[in-house]
Amino acid sequence: MTPGSGLAKGLAVTLRTMTRRAVTQQYPEAQPSLPPRSRGVIGLFEENCTVCMLCARECPDWCIYIDSHKEAVPPAAPGGRERSRNVLDRFAIDFALCMYCGICVEVCPFDALFWSPEFEYAETDIRDLTHERDRLREWMWTVPEPPPPDDAAEEPKEVAAARRTAEKLAARQEGDA
Ligand code: SF4
Ligand code: SF4
Repeated sequence: MTPGSGLAKGLAVTLRTMTRRAVTQQYPEAQPSLPPRSRGVIGLFEENCTVCMLCARECPDWCIYIDSHKEAVPPAAPGGRERSRNVLDRFAIDFALCMYCGICVEVCPFDALFWSPEFEYAETDIRDLTHERDRLREWMWTVPEPPPPDDAAEEPKEVAAARRTAEKLAARQEGDA
């Protein structure tokens, strides 16, 4: 290698790079185009939560805080036994500890936790990264719709059950007419 050839090569690389289009996204002026199913923040669909505690138990960071109490429910039929149900008092996730593994979303048997791609919730006070249930619910409105099922996929059992009921009702109405 002759002296100066290294310099020439280096300059050639610089010139090539200078003429290429930049791929940097100028956030925050331009919003990044995130891939589907990005893990930004977790939303809580409280109505589905049965306070089973599975998410809190499985979370490797122990950053899900749940408080609840039991409430008596009157018997379904007269003379029946009184039942009890769990009532949620607190549900919070500390995103300062969360490592975005997604285990809580995966293990929830009642579809109460969802990923939202929202990521703009930086705070100057670390304590504000603990999102309580109201804030977790607000994230639900930013959860994208699930992709449509594959054409070859089996019909989901909930949809099949609803369709059968609708068909039965339609047949009954036709019979009455
Ligand atoms: S994503 Fe992982 S670390 Fe974060 S709350 Fe869920 S289980 Fe815990
Ligand atoms: S696993 Fe689901 S249903 Fe159970 S406590 Fe967590 S969010 Fe609620």
